[in-house]
Amino acid sequence: MQVWKFGGTSVGKPERMKSIRNLVTEDKTRKIVVLSALSGTTNGLLAIGEAIKQHKNEEAFEAISTLKKHYQTFIEDLYTTPEGLAKGQKIIDTEFDFIASLVNISPFTLKQDKELVAQGEILSTQMFAAYMEEVGDSVVLIPALDFMRIDADNEPELAVIEEKLGHLLSKQTDKQIIVTQGFICRNPRGEVDNLKRGGSDYTASLIGGATVSEEIQIWTDIDGMHNNDPRIVKRTFPVRELSFEEAAELAYFGAKILHPSTITPAKMKGVPVRLKNTMEPNAPGTLIKSEVSHTSEITAIAAKDNITAIYIHSTRMLNAYGFLRKVFEVFEKYKTPVDMITTSEVSVAVTIDNNENLDKITEELNQIADLEPHDFNQSIICIVGNFMADKAGIAINVMNALKDIPVRMIAYGASEHNMSILVDTKDKNAALEALNEGLFKFE
Ligand code: ADP
Ligand code: ASP
Ligand code: MG
Repeated sequence: MQVWKFGGTSVGKPERMKSIRNLVTEDKTRKIVVLSALSGTTNGLLAIGEAIKQHKNEEAFEAISTLKKHYQTFIEDLYTTPEGLAKGQKIIDTEFDFIASLVNISPFTLKQDKELVAQGEILSTQMFAAYMEEVGDSVVLIPALDFMRIDADNEPELAVIEEKLGHLLSKQTDKQIIVTQGFICRNPRGEVDNLKRGGSDYTASLIGGATVSEEIQIWTDIDGMHNNDPRIVKRTFPVRELSFEEAAELAYFGAKILHPSTITPAKMKGVPVRLKNTMEPNAPGTLIKSEVSHTSEITAIAAKDNITAIYIHSTRMLNAYGFLRKVFEVFEKYKTPVDMITTSEVSVAVTIDNNENLDKITEELNQIADLEPHDFNQSIICIVGNFMADKAGIAINVMNALKDIPVRMIAYGASEHNMSILVDTKDKNAALEALNEGLFKFE
């Protein structure tokens, strides 16, 4: 059994949906196919939710009607038989009636907002399964809401997922293709929830881990993990192999091709992850697994925005113990993860990517230390590779490449795979380009 996930652009047009049907059936392995919403739909649904929240009901109805028109054309191109089209029509009529019914609900809470945004994946999977049925394939749709669970801290409950999905799959042993939704899940209150933007990758990995599948394939619009962000840097190239650790660092630190948590379940169960390009199915893509053969010093670079740096000073830190514990207890209390840390004799600087509780954190830190003004709009640049502790020269190459860029923080040595640099976001693009030219060899 394998798990194949297709992202928004891979299902975004009727001809693409048809070609992914060909892809999943030409390969004879039994598989669970995880789909995202059609590209643009999740953003469209979020915009409808915003309009409803602001009581702009007319605007919401107009946006719903525009989105439905898109789906109307889509099904007319997708299905070729009257029965297929009638099924497609029923799917979109039902889901769009539900979406429209949310407009006049008052108050429109987070619960309804999450039900609204879930419709993207609910639509795409039903349409795809109905298309496969029209063509005569062996297919069944298992709703993610029947097995995908998160706990009160929004963490997936792998044991529950394993148990529920195992049970559902045991009833479908005659089916070759099992289709399900990416992104969506239920929370401990039983409400519809989600795994955050880009969460379909995470769904695929959770399912791959839960079923201990042979492989997890993430199909998208690019030929694998590139050595640097291709949206920003001119000369990037695909990396053929990555270790779980390298891929996890890159995903966590901003490589958009993977949701930040994707690698965790796959790594836990030792299931390899392959990144593939829907537009170029024969391209090798990137294979992520536990042991890799490459020996490159620097494998790839990623960047994460919206970082805040907090600078904490205390003379009490001098020759004292326990101070750092007090500092980190504040972040723990407000469930705010710390990404980067650097220390000097009487100071510690940390970065966070979630400012939701920053005021409270600042207030409490002020009671135990002196704070300098925070730096907002920072970016962490994460350089991933194999930095053997006894190997000289890597840090100097990085700093040389960055000689014209003001660097705020540097973290090196915590792992043999990661070096993190903090820069102002306005300098990020220049820093990524400079590192690309300075650290990689081009023919
Ligand atoms: P999907 O809709 O299939 O989930 P995403 O848009 O989420 O696709 O992810 C694919 C995109 O990630 C690519 O089109 C590319 O622009 C972007 N990306 C950012 N960093 C990288 C990287 N290091 N390697 C490959 N793609 C990257
Ligand atoms: N549709 C969701 C999003 O746009 C999930 C995903 O595409 O992975 O974020
Ligand atoms: Mg994505």
